[in-house]
Amino acid sequence: MEKQYDVCIIGAGVVGNAVARELSRYHLRAAVVEKESDVSMGTSSRNSGVIHSGIHYKPGTVRAQLNVQGNAMMTDLCRELKVKIQYIGKLTIAQDEEDIQTLHSLKEQGEANGVPGLEILDAEQMQKIQPGVGGIKALLSPSTGIICPYGLAIGLAENAHANGVDFYLSHEVSHISSTGQGFRVKTVAGADLSCSVLVNAAGLYADRLCRMLGITEYSIYPCRGEYLILDKRLQGSLNVLVYPAPRKGGAGLGIHLTNTVDGNILIGPSNEYVDAADDYACTAQIIELLKKEGHELLPGLSTSDFIRNFSGLRPKQTPPEVKGFKDFVIESRKDVPGFINLVGIESPGLTCSPAIALMVRDMVAERLPLREKSSFVAERPGRVGFFHELPPNEQAELVEQNSDYGEIVCRCEQITKKEVLDAIQNPLGVKTVAAIKYRSRAMMGRCQGGFCLPRIVQILQKDFGYRPEDYILNSAGSRLFAGSVR
Ligand SMILES: Cc1cc2nc3c(=O)[nH]c(=O)nc-3n(C[C@H](O)[C@H](O)[C@H](O)COP(=O)(O)OP(=O)(O)OC[C@H]3O[C@@H](n4cnc5c(N)ncnc54)[C@H](O)[C@@H]3O)c2cc1C
Repeated sequence: MEKQYDVCIIGAGVVGNAVARELSRYHLRAAVVEKESDVSMGTSSRNSGVIHSGIHYKPGTVRAQLNVQGNAMMTDLCRELKVKIQYIGKLTIAQDEEDIQTLHSLKEQGEANGVPGLEILDAEQMQKIQPGVGGIKALLSPSTGIICPYGLAIGLAENAHANGVDFYLSHEVSHISSTGQGFRVKTVAGADLSCSVLVNAAGLYADRLCRMLGITEYSIYPCRGEYLILDKRLQGSLNVLVYPAPRKGGAGLGIHLTNTVDGNILIGPSNEYVDAADDYACTAQIIELLKKEGHELLPGLSTSDFIRNFSGLRPKQTPPEVKGFKDFVIESRKDVPGFINLVGIESPGLTCSPAIALMVRDMVAERLPLREKSSFVAERPGRVGFFHELPPNEQAELVEQNSDYGEIVCRCEQITKKEVLDAIQNPLGVKTVAAIKYRSRAMMGRCQGGFCLPRIVQILQKDFGYRPEDYILNSAGSRLFAGSVR
């Protein structure tokens, strides 16, 4: 049966979720349709997690404007959604005279974009901020921050859901038709939705969604970035983010060291165009390159510090022979009235996401009356961070209230049974092992679940009645168990 909405958003990445959360402030029937089993399974969880300052983009571009605006919105947003964020600053390092010119251009560009506090530092000043860092000069951008990228995307989705937005997970949109008054959206899993306004936030697949409506002018070229995650032993080695001065014609910002808000360091990302929009392979060749670069940027790094690798795909509008960047496309189509189209939202899309949501809201307002709901609740329940980060007196209080706080399930990350239970009972009702991992941080430590996964399997069986076929890693078909022997 057809279900009617005012707005349907295709794609539950950080952008789709930010749009959903923004629209949930108003009297609208809204839905998010996502092909994966959970939100933020694509690019939005596979990036550096940096809240960029806005030095990298040409003044007057959509990216530059939304970057600075999004950066400024993050503090309040993260407070409301209980998401970790730290404005730790960034050094962009010059190794030679040409790089120094680049730093001056970046500073000028950043200032034109409205980026606060930019400063060129000499080697001595750099060393004070980040002892041991190589290079002859650096540009300091103090408004650069770090965030938990999937934490933000999940927080936005859960808050949107709490404020009335429906989420259709594991629903791949296979067919869209324009009815003149609006749209009909069908999914492989059988949902049949109609809406007045349709938002394309499908990331790497945005061009395919466009083609479903006869819009053929866009092509997305996936460009892979691989990362290595370093053990928390190195926590504290990096006071700021350290990036190389960008080189002409590159498709990304260069391989860099990035602190994560949870105490790891990332090395990456590499830069390699690939054919498929789901080719998340990690290659031996790039791992070797990242190790080499990592040793150069962080002397003292040992091979045993590499605990895992992953990759993400940039939805680039520029083909491999062109490289470089193209501005974001954020448009309300005149030829397909009611279709709001987001294409090529590569970096800094995470940073821009709340500002993109405002822009989309204004486009929705041109077609539908927006009346604010007095029932909108901006605050997500819970607290920022994990039990083990709380002071001992608060921990003792919580254990007193609920003894599940007193049981550590994940030894590496010190995650308690209560935190795992909360993740299992997540508001979106996602039942996969990956959902528990992204929400609780269990299985993200040095042993990568070697110790805690069996314990979590047991909890799911005992407390939630899971059968062997119910254990899904992340997507349909990724079963953890083939069956049971007893
Ligand atoms: C290597 C790398 C590093 C980056 N680093 C940073 C950074 O440090 N800071 C920053 O600000 N930005 C960074 N970015 C960019 C940022 O990650 C992206 O701009 C942002 O995540 C894009 O979000 P999105 O919601 O548009 O796309 P996505 O996260 O890709 O979401 C799109 C969703 O649409 C779904 N979908 C697609 N087709 C369909 C369909 N037919 N039916 C239903 N659902 C569908 C997908 O499954 C997906 O979940 C980086 C990106 C990469 C790749």
